[in-house]
Amino acid sequence: MLKKRWYLIALLIAFSLTISAAPKPYLILVSFDAFRWDYLNRGLSPVLEKVRQEGVSALSLKPTYPSKTFPNHLSIITGMYPAHHGIIANNFLDQFTGKLYRMNDSISSRDGRWYLGEAFWETAERQGIITASYFWPGSELALPYRHPTYYQAYDHQRPYEKRVDGVIDWLKLPADKRPHFITLYCHETDSQGHRYGPDSPQTNDAIKRLDEVAGYLLSKLDEIKMRDSVNVVFLSDHGMTEVSAERSINIEKILGDIKCKLSDSGPLLFVEPDKGKISETYNQLKKNENHYKVYYLEEIPSYFHFEDNPFISPIVVIADLGWSVVTNRRSDYDGKGNHGYDNNQLDMQGIFLATGPDFKKNYHTGTLWNIDIYPLLCKLFKIFPRKNIDGDLDRIGFILKD
Ligand code: AMP
Ligand code: ZN
Ligand code: ZN
Repeated sequence: MLKKRWYLIALLIAFSLTISAAPKPYLILVSFDAFRWDYLNRGLSPVLEKVRQEGVSALSLKPTYPSKTFPNHLSIITGMYPAHHGIIANNFLDQFTGKLYRMNDSISSRDGRWYLGEAFWETAERQGIITASYFWPGSELALPYRHPTYYQAYDHQRPYEKRVDGVIDWLKLPADKRPHFITLYCHETDSQGHRYGPDSPQTNDAIKRLDEVAGYLLSKLDEIKMRDSVNVVFLSDHGMTEVSAERSINIEKILGDIKCKLSDSGPLLFVEPDKGKISETYNQLKKNENHYKVYYLEEIPSYFHFEDNPFISPIVVIADLGWSVVTNRRSDYDGKGNHGYDNNQLDMQGIFLATGPDFKKNYHTGTLWNIDIYPLLCKLFKIFPRKNIDGDLDRIGFILKD
């Protein structure tokens, strides 16, 4: 009897030792802003091509609606639709208090009250995983328990190689201080795509440039002998489509004397009518519906999952692909490319590539959804996900090694 008890205790000790000794995975989540799904097929990105051949690749990564930067980075990191994680646009109005959320204003973008979802770094840190972020929308929240252990204040001008060096420095920290989950963000394809359009030589140069950055990251991982132990995911938040000033509709002109608050512009316009003027405003926009759709909040097609939030205005105007809905203040759209459109459109799709010890090799799949990445990360790190998410591991879990 005594012998049996000792045997059981020894077994328990051995079991707990193996659990604590199981090495924690590493993962670097790289976002190349507005790297459209088909840019990989232009023959300009040999490094990403190699990752695509060797590891996991998806035909595309489906963004959430609206296909904009902040809503989608938050969808990726929380597993939720924008209406649920709260960042419904890059800039929007809380019509109840008159406060504005603006991605370029660090006071509002660091205010945790706007962020209703739980970011992966919060989930991970609570379960003993150190995290870091070399830029990611929503990574700089003012509350100490809502940001990664290590993070950087967004600096658009910071050279990409410097960002990679920062990531590598974190990986060189002593084991008890070293982050296991790290984000990295580069904007090149977004900036050039907006300015010159998705088919321009400048966008092609941006593709090449980001491919170099990918190569630099992988070679640095080689240098510190962590290439085989670190998982790397390359993804983008959305794609890009061609737009032109001629294809813009001035909504303020259509409204004429009907006064209301208009916010955002381009692919989507929030319309906050004056008291008692909702149907008049709507009817005027409906009568003139041309290259855009106007919806009452409750009419927005359910496939957008864009209604369940108090800050979505009572009326929204959604532009057709390649068209812009504008106001007097921004009378036409001066760029040649934009995104933010229907997230089912092919041009709005992004990329997803993954390589490393926890991903299958040479595995090529169809379109993945970006809301499923949060549960994927939880599975990879063997931690409990939040239950109130929109993502579903069943749609993506098969890309991990069994
Ligand atoms: P957009 O194309 O309007 O959806 O947004 C893209 C822009 O978002 C980039 O050009 C960056 O300037 C900006 N951006 C990206 N990440 C951050 C961040 N973490 N903080 C502030 N701005 C950011
Ligand atoms: Zn973006
Ligand atoms: Zn953009």
